[in-house]
Amino acid sequence: MTRAEKARRIGEILDDLYPHPPVPLDHTSPYTLLVAVMLSAQATDKKVNEITPRLFAVADTPEKMSELSPDEIHVLIREIGLAPTKAKNLSKMAYQIMDAGGEILPDWEFLESLAGVGHKTASVVMGGAFGVPAFAVDTHIHRLAHRWGLSNGSTVERTEKDLKAVFPKDTWSDRHLQIIYFGREYCPARNHDLTQCPICSWAATKKRIAAEARSGPKKNPKARKMPSRAAERAQLPSSE
Ligand code: SF4
Repeated sequence: MTRAEKARRIGEILDDLYPHPPVPLDHTSPYTLLVAVMLSAQATDKKVNEITPRLFAVADTPEKMSELSPDEIHVLIREIGLAPTKAKNLSKMAYQIMDAGGEILPDWEFLESLAGVGHKTASVVMGGAFGVPAFAVDTHIHRLAHRWGLSNGSTVERTEKDLKAVFPKDTWSDRHLQIIYFGREYCPARNHDLTQCPICSWAATKKRIAAEARSGPKKNPKARKMPSRAAERAQLPSSE
């Protein structure tokens, strides 16, 4: 099975499982999405969604955020990991946006020039807020792309390039979200039986399945049962 064929079948399974994947971070504007994505570094989306109502009640625009000191922002987000650094970045970023006219622009260079904003964060905002095709790749997506045989790149940059090559451009933003949802729902943190997985059972190489089994497969009592349509997709014949 070629990489493109594999990607097509994975895409069908993901579309069956998550037809309209929502952005999991609560937001009301490109700016609040940007802030939420920044806050989500090394924190769960659930935690971010718990603290952003308090933050956005005070500062849901760059102008209002710029009126707060980093210490005041820190008080509002102190329950989240890396709060001191994130507070400083939110303050600096607010001034940068004000200096540029006060609006978040769908512009890669602009977004990636902001304090605390890297390519992954910019990709989520471009896709989630502006509908610009973007494939945000984090370490989880990087790892699954390898397991599924869609990339063998050693960096997230290379994996992003490989994923963009095998998935149609108009699916990139959804694929990013669908893979995140799939990982959360199906992928336990420890070694386990790949043959029980809706995707790895046919997409992973036999070598990788055997290696995982040798390293001690664990039953995953919380693993989701594969929905019937996804199961049908997964049972299509494989050339591996
Ligand atoms: S559940 Fe396991 S086998 Fe399936 S995609 Fe996740 S890591 Fe791979």
